[in-house]
Amino acid sequence: MTQQVLDKEQATALITGGSRGIGRAIAKMLAQDGYQILLTYRSKEEEALLVVQEIEALGGRARHAALDISRTEDVRRFFQDEVKDKIRLACLVNNAGITKDGLLIRMKEDDFMAVVDVCLRGTFAVTQEAAKIMSKNRAGRIINISSVVGLMGNAGQANYAAAKAGIIGFTKSCAKELASRQITCNAVAPGFIETDMTAHLPDEVKAQYIEAIPLKRMGIADDVAKAVSFLASDKAAYITGQVLSVNGGMYC
Ligand code: NAP
Repeated sequence: MTQQVLDKEQATALITGGSRGIGRAIAKMLAQDGYQILLTYRSKEEEALLVVQEIEALGGRARHAALDISRTEDVRRFFQDEVKDKIRLACLVNNAGITKDGLLIRMKEDDFMAVVDVCLRGTFAVTQEAAKIMSKNRAGRIINISSVVGLMGNAGQANYAAAKAGIIGFTKSCAKELASRQITCNAVAPGFIETDMTAHLPDEVKAQYIEAIPLKRMGIADDVAKAVSFLASDKAAYITGQVLSVNGGMYC
C-alpha cells in the first residue's frame, strides 16, 4: 500500500489517536471543514487506514502514521520525519488517551503512571513539538481532549481524573504562553461518549450515568467532533484558554 503524500502548503490538522472513536470522528469532520489530515494510531493500523479511506471517499486528503505518544523520543522522531518541513501544521488535536480503572487503595503505581504517561505526558510532548513549528508560523490551533472526569472526579479513576485535570492546567498555561504567536489553545471536556472506551461498562452502570445526564443520553463521537470543529475554525479566533464541556449537562 502506498501512503498518500500530503500537500506541503495546505492547512493540516494532526490528530493523535485518530484511528477510532472520538479521534476518528474529529478527523473526518476536520477533513470536511477543509483541513488536510495527518492522523496517528498506536497499534491498530487497519483501523487508521480505514479512516484515511473514509476521508478520501469524502474528497479529502489524509495520511496515517504510527506513534506512541507516551514515548517522547518517538514523538520527536515523528515530528522530524512526518511534520517538520513536510506539512503546514495549522491545527493539533491531542486526542489519544487510555484508561486503567481501579479504586485508589488497590491501584498499582504502574497503572497510575501508564495513564499519566499517555494522557498528560503525551499531550505535553506532542504539544511542545507542535508549538515550536506553530510559533515560527505565527499561527495555530491546539485543542486538547480532557474529560468531565477531570472537572468533577470519578471513583475508580484517580489516575485518569488526575491526568485529565492536568490537561486543563496545561491548556490554560499554553494559551498564555502562545497567545503572542497567535496560537490558541483550548480544551474540550467530553462527558460519557459511546466509544470502545465506554463499551465495556455494564448496562446497569451505563443506565446510572444516563440517569445523571440531564439530556438523558450518552453522547456520540460526533457531538465532540462538532465542538472541536468550532474551536479549529475562524469562528473561534478570539477564544483561548477555555474548557468547552460536551456532556449533556451532567456537570455545569
Ligand atoms: P478509544 O476509542 O479508546 O480510542 C483511543 C485512541 O487513542 C485510539 O486511536 C488509540 O490507538 C489511541 N491511543 C491509545 N494509546 C495511545 C498511545 N499511547 N499513543 C498514541 N495513541 C494512542 O477512545 P475514545 O473514547 O475515542 O477517547 C478519545 C479521547 O477522548 C481520549 O483522550 C479520552 O480520554 C477522551 N474522552 C473519552 C470519553 C468517552 O466517554 N469515550 C469521555 C471523555 C474523554 P489504537 O487504536 O491504535 O490503539
